[in-house]
Amino acid sequence: MLSNAIEAPSSQTEVKGANHIEELTWAEVNLDAIAHNVRAIKKHIGSQVEIMAVVKANAYGHGAVPVAQTALQNGSTRLAVYRLIEGIELRQAGITAPVLIMGYTLPSQAETVVRWNLTPTVNEQSQAQALSAAAVNQGRQLSIHVKVDTGLGRFGLLPQEIIPFCQALLKLPNLKLEGFYTHFSVADESSESSQAYTRRQLDIYHQALRALEAQGITVPLHHAARSAALLAFPESRLNIVRPGISIHGLSAFSNGASFIPTQPAMTLKSRVIRLRTLPAGASVGYGRTFITQRPTQVALVPVGYGDGYHRLISNRGQVLIHQQRAPIIGRISMDQVIVDASAIPGLKQHDEVVFFGRQGEATLSVDEVASWAETINYEVTTSLLPRVARVYLRGGKVTAIHRLKGLTPPRTERTEEK
Ligand SMILES: *Cc1c(COP(=O)(O)O)cnc(C)c1O
Repeated sequence: MLSNAIEAPSSQTEVKGANHIEELTWAEVNLDAIAHNVRAIKKHIGSQVEIMAVVKANAYGHGAVPVAQTALQNGSTRLAVYRLIEGIELRQAGITAPVLIMGYTLPSQAETVVRWNLTPTVNEQSQAQALSAAAVNQGRQLSIHVKVDTGLGRFGLLPQEIIPFCQALLKLPNLKLEGFYTHFSVADESSESSQAYTRRQLDIYHQALRALEAQGITVPLHHAARSAALLAFPESRLNIVRPGISIHGLSAFSNGASFIPTQPAMTLKSRVIRLRTLPAGASVGYGRTFITQRPTQVALVPVGYGDGYHRLISNRGQVLIHQQRAPIIGRISMDQVIVDASAIPGLKQHDEVVFFGRQGEATLSVDEVASWAETINYEVTTSLLPRVARVYLRGGKVTAIHRLKGLTPPRTERTEEK
């Protein structure tokens, strides 16, 4: 039942070459792709269902604030993160939309949760009491969500714990039980048994909700679906969907399928910093895992596991240079990789190298990088560390550059805003 991905052509013109951007290594984040993806999801689910854009882990490495702002401007009405600190980051950027914290918050963080008007997931009584006390203390009402574990075996209360827990909650002042939700474990898998499991999880959710309602406890917001579920199980959309990966334009399915035409938002770029020809029999990189068989033009590129590019890709991966594939040879080190660029004529120092994303007509997908690193597409972008500058594009133009600790080299200061 899963169809293969058909990617819509990118709606924006590209920034040509690397020369406009004074970085060694950077990730371009196409905010038009984020906008397109949120709109595509909205169109697919219809006006009755809200979108809670999941921007946890720095929006899967893309940058939480720009992705959140773009999602909110294009049809998302809510945001979700995992930790208190991530919610504070959004609030400090001036974002006022409801923000759900899907992970655990300590009772000692209750005052801060209330101060920033974040919506915590409440999982235990001591936490509920601390939040209620903080809300009373600050003279506010606090919305909270309760999560039921329907079969992921992770966070959330078991179905039989829900009624006593919520009854106790309702006795606490200044708390509003606003949402009731769950999370699927195999919604991204297409086998019969996985699909049956997802349906069973949804059944357990509905049973728990009906049991609550039978006790006279009504909760206005119901949500369950991450990207894969909202696409493959329309009945799981309820009031709100919680897409993350599909907002960033990557496939939510283990087989790479896609139901709607989303566009990958990120391209990881660097440059050739050194180019030379090694003789046959030369040893390349730590551990001498690669020995040249013939004279080899090698390009040194400043991307390593210290940027979040996985070391498992050593001697396996490829990059794009001049829109052609070139193999990574030898071990990936913390700061650099070596590429066999023998097949690329006319290559010069400082020419652009793409690790995933698009270069002209050529593409190299995040899924392909994930397979070399024996992981999933989620981990590839989320792994990118702060040392990699994030360059934001709209309409093919650079609109902002976020660098490590906000550092701005003086020469680009004038051109980077607007
Ligand atoms: C990460 C996460 C999501 C989003 O999942 P995607 O597969 O990226 O769409 C939704 N809900 C919860 C609880 C999550 O942890």
